[in-house]
Amino acid sequence: MNKKVEVEQGNTASIETRVVWGGEQVQHPYNATQTPIVVSAAYGYQDIDAWYDVALGKQPGYIYSRMSNPTVATLEAKLCDLEQAESAVAFSSGMAAISAVLHTFLATGKRVVSTRDSYGGTNKIFEEFLPRMGVQVCLCDTLDTEAIEREIARGCDLLYLETPTNPTLKVLDIQRLAAAAKRVGALVVADNTFATPLNQNPLALGVDVVVHSATKFLSGHGDVLGGVVCGDESLMAQVRHYREINGASLDPFSAFLIIRGIKTLALRVRQQQASAQALAEYLCGEPLVESVNYPGLPQHPGHAVARAQMRGFGAIVSFVLKGGMPTVTRLLPRLQYAHRAGNLGAVETIYGPARTTSHVENTLEERLALGISEGLVRISVGIEDTADLLADLAQACAAVREELAREAEAVVRHPEPQV
Ligand SMILES: *Cc1c(COP(=O)(O)O)cnc(C)c1O
Repeated sequence: MNKKVEVEQGNTASIETRVVWGGEQVQHPYNATQTPIVVSAAYGYQDIDAWYDVALGKQPGYIYSRMSNPTVATLEAKLCDLEQAESAVAFSSGMAAISAVLHTFLATGKRVVSTRDSYGGTNKIFEEFLPRMGVQVCLCDTLDTEAIEREIARGCDLLYLETPTNPTLKVLDIQRLAAAAKRVGALVVADNTFATPLNQNPLALGVDVVVHSATKFLSGHGDVLGGVVCGDESLMAQVRHYREINGASLDPFSAFLIIRGIKTLALRVRQQQASAQALAEYLCGEPLVESVNYPGLPQHPGHAVARAQMRGFGAIVSFVLKGGMPTVTRLLPRLQYAHRAGNLGAVETIYGPARTTSHVENTLEERLALGISEGLVRISVGIEDTADLLADLAQACAAVREELAREAEAVVRHPEPQV
């Protein structure tokens, strides 16, 4: 029942080909060309001995879909191919995947080192749930590499990295930090959701376990939740065992949607990041904007590290509007080609302030302590035409500038009476 997903050794095809063909089985029932959605809760056997062998893992096969399912197994095989991992385990959401990894490898008395800028949900596990289990959690300043190394050297069982971060796009040096963790024998986990396997393969940089929210770029259409974990089989066997019992398994319909989405990952993300670069450059010259975060900008503090460890800079840009939330409230409704929503990684462009997206769980004080100002807006750049997205953002900014100028002029003409 512990179905191991084998990587096709020596698959030298480029990623554009592997997103399409990776992990796919050649022969399906009825000669279907597409992965079937197998919706059976359990799998039946005439031969009781064969059933027993499958249950013991002596023969490949399926017993019960909480443990493994053929459609989900195809997704897992595809992820193995994309991250060049030995084995993968899929979950019902990215948070289910992250939570399973942390619960599999941590226990009372263990110490985890991570950074303050991890995804909001991950941060809640660190601050709320792990301390309750007696796990020591040390969250470092994301940009202070030496401080992270010092905390690792003080004792660390698990190093948890996420890069680029959400929503401020900070970049961590994966290779350097993974090496520091190896020196103390710590397991290294990396969330590769923002970069996607198109741009970054943490396993090749010394990471042991990669996690993904498949809800984002992997599925790519904002219509499904899922998560995937991958790494060596010895580690994934433990994660798979946790999933079997914890029960946060991925359903076959969702697995099918994610498989279908992944086939266009390379096409989508290439288009999205080309537009992201253009929007980031535009925002740098926009008078309404105080600062822009995008690792593809040469002035970005993590640009050199990003260049070294990534093949592309990703499709998420964030920027701070002068005037804070009141300016955000003026700008966002004026955009024509944008959802104003909490997710990211979809084919449509999505704009969202940190207050209602990545850091919705935090108070104003907590956000400010994290350096997330009220004027911060995240763009998840979609696959629309670059020129259309630029024109849309430019017209919205111009309209806000004119409105602000009109209001300022009205104040000059009709000043408030002096008290
Ligand atoms: C969205 C997200 C998650 C959580 O994934 P869900 O599928 O929403 O549970 C984890 N990490 C990052 C970086 C994310 O963007």
